[in-house]
Amino acid sequence: MHHVIEVSTACKVKRGTHLSPAEAEEVLAEWVGKNAGDVDWGEEDQLKKTSLQRLSGWSNRLFKPAELGSMIDQLFPDAEGIEEEINIEIAGVPIKGFIDLYDGMFVTDIKTCTKRADPGTHFQLDIYQHAKQRKKGRLVYLLRDKGLTVDAATNNRTVQGMKDLEKYLEWTVGQVARGISMEVFPPITPAQSWMCSPRYCPFYSKCYGKYH
Ligand code: SF4
Repeated sequence: MHHVIEVSTACKVKRGTHLSPAEAEEVLAEWVGKNAGDVDWGEEDQLKKTSLQRLSGWSNRLFKPAELGSMIDQLFPDAEGIEEEINIEIAGVPIKGFIDLYDGMFVTDIKTCTKRADPGTHFQLDIYQHAKQRKKGRLVYLLRDKGLTVDAATNNRTVQGMKDLEKYLEWTVGQVARGISMEVFPPITPAQSWMCSPRYCPFYSKCYGKYH
């Protein structure tokens, strides 16, 4: 869905119209085919089957090709582009990223998720706002467990807030870089990420797995 929104927005910017429903379905099918092919499923056929079934279930609930254009126009009426590459340096560390969507006012990141994150404390959005020096940042949520529920939350920083953000990023990125150079890798709280499990994290046995 994320990818289809980006492609449709790019079409709107370039040719003045969104993807037609048939084109949108084609873009989605291509994306699913390509990404399923890129994954190393190992011996776990069942994992592949279950994952594709779940993906198909989310897509069916989220993806309404006929509504796509009007939904995007409501969310991004002044979209200027997608996937803008940024390359900046913070605390001597080169940082590269791609801004999902941007216009004259906002930098926007799209999240497919089950609960909303806070745009005021979202590190990725912080970096993008700093890189583009935009006071306004926005997260658009595709809430996959609730059918086609698309929602957005914004933050609006002041001039002082942008200066504070710069200091915060310098400090945080510097700390992370120092930690990496000293090989200090503090673990995240397992509840924060589904990655933190023996199934999905290749380092689990050296991390939380040591205590189990
Ligand atoms: S188990 Fe993996 S994901 Fe979880 S904290 Fe350790 S290294 Fe990070």
